[in-house]
Amino acid sequence: MSILIVGSTALDSIKTPKAENPRLLGGSASHAAVAASFFSPVKLVGVVGDDFPRRYVQLYKRHRIDLGGLQILRVKTFHWSGEYEANMNHRRTLLTELGVFETFTPTLPKSHQNSPFVLLANIAPSLQHHVLNQMRRPKFVVADTMDLWLNIALADLLKLLKRLDAFVLNDSEAHQLTTEDNVFSALKKIHKLGPKYVIIKKGSHGSILSGPRGFFICPAYPLHKVVDPTGAGDSFVGGFMGYLATARGGVEENIRRAMIYGSVVASFCCEGFGLKRTTRVTRANIDKRVRELERLTHF
Ligand code: AMP
Repeated sequence: MSILIVGSTALDSIKTPKAENPRLLGGSASHAAVAASFFSPVKLVGVVGDDFPRRYVQLYKRHRIDLGGLQILRVKTFHWSGEYEANMNHRRTLLTELGVFETFTPTLPKSHQNSPFVLLANIAPSLQHHVLNQMRRPKFVVADTMDLWLNIALADLLKLLKRLDAFVLNDSEAHQLTTEDNVFSALKKIHKLGPKYVIIKKGSHGSILSGPRGFFICPAYPLHKVVDPTGAGDSFVGGFMGYLATARGGVEENIRRAMIYGSVVASFCCEGFGLKRTTRVTRANIDKRVRELERLTHF
């Protein structure tokens, strides 16, 4: 089954203590779409400017991503820049140039409105609503967010939570949303805001699912070297949705394994700048790491 993914399609300039890489292919939707493409057909909804390199369009195409919902405007592509400290859990945003995002209104082609799985990757909650309004009875809707929207668009985000099956956020965002220091108390409070499933990501410490059958503690794949964690969260949720969309059976039966697949795709993302490593991965590489995680967590 196909997945519709809306989110940012960006040029990312990333600095780490060891290297600097300007204008890489980035954005929440790009990372999520490539991650999901290992498992299921993907329809991307986003916007880029006329400065968007053709080789990045080719890269989407190599992953068989449907670009019928990608608008190209005569303005600059969204450009984001971030810098990491030696501890890669600490990042600072250096620059956000909205460009095409100042006027973007996603209008879905008819062929996109029936996608059973919808991933509202990180983008303004008003745009996430706008996409959802155009969908015809999707089977499973997931949204991701970031601290910026908790700061400047909380009312829209709270309305969105009531329309979701699952909500994915990181631990600092969960704290910001609920004021709870304890992650399990935060999960309880977030369920009360609407979603049946809540996933809190904890970076290199994995993630926690809370749903009707209780908790699931999902490990991160142990990496000895992290090159650039940008987009790891988006890769996680993309891999998660991609796996869910093709797995036989219902969501409840597959959601734990889907998190493991998401976690593995995110680990590849961290091993290269931007999408450089993820785009060289094969399904066999992914399955091998899933088996390793199975062995590591079995007792
Ligand atoms: P993550 O590392 O999971 O936080 O995701 C990083 C990605 O988010 C980068 O590829 C950025 O292009 C994208 N991004 C940064 N700021 C924004 C924003 N305000 N809206 C949407 N996407 C953003």
